[in-house]
Amino acid sequence: MSIRLPEDEKEFPWLPMLLDAYAISDQAVQEKQERDYREHGFQAACSKGCITCCYQQFIPATSLELAGIVWFICHKMDPKAQKSIIDVLENFSGERTCPMLQNTTCAVYSVRPLACRQFVVYEQACQAREDVLGTRPEHVLKLDNSSIRQAFRSMLPFYEIHTPEEQEVALNDNFLFKQSSYMHQVDWPSFFIK
Ligand code: SF4
Ligand code: SF4
Repeated sequence: MSIRLPEDEKEFPWLPMLLDAYAISDQAVQEKQERDYREHGFQAACSKGCITCCYQQFIPATSLELAGIVWFICHKMDPKAQKSIIDVLENFSGERTCPMLQNTTCAVYSVRPLACRQFVVYEQACQAREDVLGTRPEHVLKLDNSSIRQAFRSMLPFYEIHTPEEQEVALNDNFLFKQSSYMHQVDWPSFFIK
């Protein structure tokens, strides 16, 4: 279920661009899961507390997605959770793991990046050190290109890319990926240290 924050979306014009992308992507993931179940009998192995992907995969996030995460931490978290994650981020120095992983939970689950939302593995949970894309690619959910592009399109106005023609060029040029960072390589302290 995608998060919607109508009052905040009125106040922060960039927020609907991000949450629309997440809603489009979540819907497409859900429909693809249902289709893969109908056609192949595949069931998602992902579950709460299953976290191998969070420390094993390189997770890209656009600057809009990073803005969403930082905003969510600053404005939407309860004070205890907020203090806990900010303590981690202030001292983060580029470990291999995504710093949003707190114990066995994603601290920013409702605003996690598209890469996390779209990475679904079927049948058997990822094993430690397993590269699922190599060992059993047939068990990795593959979204059709048009859904991915539709989600990306809703983020492009944040970068002042508005017309369909400009958006087509940006998508073909992998614009969003080129200005993304991996979650474990972001300079997190710069967002929080005063
Ligand atoms: S992608 Fe793999 S590790 Fe991540 S939740 Fe799904 S099964 Fe678990
Ligand atoms: S943002 Fe959350 S779901 Fe994504 S890699 Fe980090 S801890 Fe895992």
